[in-house]
Amino acid sequence: MRYSGFKVIKEALTGHKGWQPAWRDPEPQSHYDIIIIGGGGHGLATAYYLAKEFQQKRIAVIEKGWIGGGNVGRNTTIIRSNYLLDGNEPFYEFSLKLWEGLEQDLNYNAMISQRGILNLIHSDAQRDAFIRRGNAMILNGADAEMLSTEQIKKRYPFLNTDDARFPIKGGLAQHRGGTVRHDAVAWGYARGADSRGVDILQNCEVTGFRIESGKCLGVETSRGFIGAAKVGCAVAGSSGRLMAKAGMRLPIESHVLQAFVSEGLKPVLPGVVTFGAGHFYVSQSDKGGLVFGGDLDGYNSYAQRGNLPTVEDVCEGGMAIFPAFGRARLLRMWGGLMDMSMDGSPIIDRTHIDGLYFNGGWCYGGFKATPASGFCFAHLLARDAPHPTATAYRFDRFEKGLMIDEKGVGNQPNLH
Ligand SMILES: Cc1cc2nc3c(=O)[nH]c(=O)nc-3n(C[C@H](O)[C@H](O)[C@H](O)COP(=O)(O)OP(=O)(O)OC[C@H]3O[C@@H](n4cnc5c(N)ncnc54)[C@H](O)[C@@H]3O)c2cc1C
Repeated sequence: MRYSGFKVIKEALTGHKGWQPAWRDPEPQSHYDIIIIGGGGHGLATAYYLAKEFQQKRIAVIEKGWIGGGNVGRNTTIIRSNYLLDGNEPFYEFSLKLWEGLEQDLNYNAMISQRGILNLIHSDAQRDAFIRRGNAMILNGADAEMLSTEQIKKRYPFLNTDDARFPIKGGLAQHRGGTVRHDAVAWGYARGADSRGVDILQNCEVTGFRIESGKCLGVETSRGFIGAAKVGCAVAGSSGRLMAKAGMRLPIESHVLQAFVSEGLKPVLPGVVTFGAGHFYVSQSDKGGLVFGGDLDGYNSYAQRGNLPTVEDVCEGGMAIFPAFGRARLLRMWGGLMDMSMDGSPIIDRTHIDGLYFNGGWCYGGFKATPASGFCFAHLLARDAPHPTATAYRFDRFEKGLMIDEKGVGNQPNLH
């Protein structure tokens, strides 16, 4: 069923009796060609591209809860491709290009809004670093523009650029960055995958792997054993727990990250703004709420809830740069499970077990990566070779010392 303006009007006039469920609720089959574990953005996108771009058949996505219940429905919805390093920038730019055509591709309104992202600069050294980053972006085909304080004043007149504790000395803008309605991404990919024959099995937890003579034969689940020629794991914050069932210890730790939404306000923020002298990022949702976040809670956890000291820390960051926001009331907050890798960059690779593949280590930047992550993981699963934009995301980079440390903070996952 195609969605269109005409269809909406027709249904409005005929009592909304013609809508069909966006995806089926099938029973698990005994065997699939490819199983993807994890019905988050990355798992669903992988299944979609496997079916659409790589003509794979007999695919299942196995999700322990419900579609969109993980990080894909918990993030602050920011998309961008303002990365510095060669291992990262082409991949994230590929992702941004896929975002730009995604709604037409999926025939689904994911509310993709390229309202722009602005990274504020507060010191001369930071300006040098951002000029370098902007040049790396342009060399890789992305857009980047250095803005002066005067240009920022025009766009964000309520920012105190002159006598603030952290004076604003300019900013790096990516005008093609922006926001996307996060859970619509999960729903759009789920609908697109289902319509191409992918079985989406919700309320089905993978409890183990059946591995014989170094080959993965399928997965044990809460609904029985399901066989597969290939199994791809894309469970984000649960990566460590899941891969331990295959006997693997990953270079990944799980941490909590919180997000916050204020009461609805009239339009005040035209785009996404990040604070350069602390950790704070904010945008305004279409309903008017300020959507913001900051640092991780800072300890290892599998709990999807955060703690009050971090709430205070994030709000202090916001107040330092946007004192006016102190008058808005906080409406809701929640936490998500982050798969923080040792160098802050992801892994899309085969494991040492034949037929078992892994996608994870997205830290708290995996939402923007969703389309490219799905595409590249599908490429790897279908062709047994990495996609050209994801060749650096290998397990053995930790063995060989080929880190992709975008922040330059070393092997401390909570600092990436
Ligand atoms: C508060 C917060 C803010 C963020 N902000 C941004 C942002 O602004 N921009 C950005 O780019 N990124 C952001 N992120 C990061 C981003 O959301 C994640 O990196 C990304 O969503 C992870 O991929 P996913 O969507 O596949 O994960 P998930 O949606 O978490 O999918 C994994 C799924 O695996 C399932 N699963 C786990 N174990 C099993 C099992 N044993 N069997 C079956 N299923 C299982 C889970 O139930 C879950 O549904 C943020 C994250 C959080 C929490």
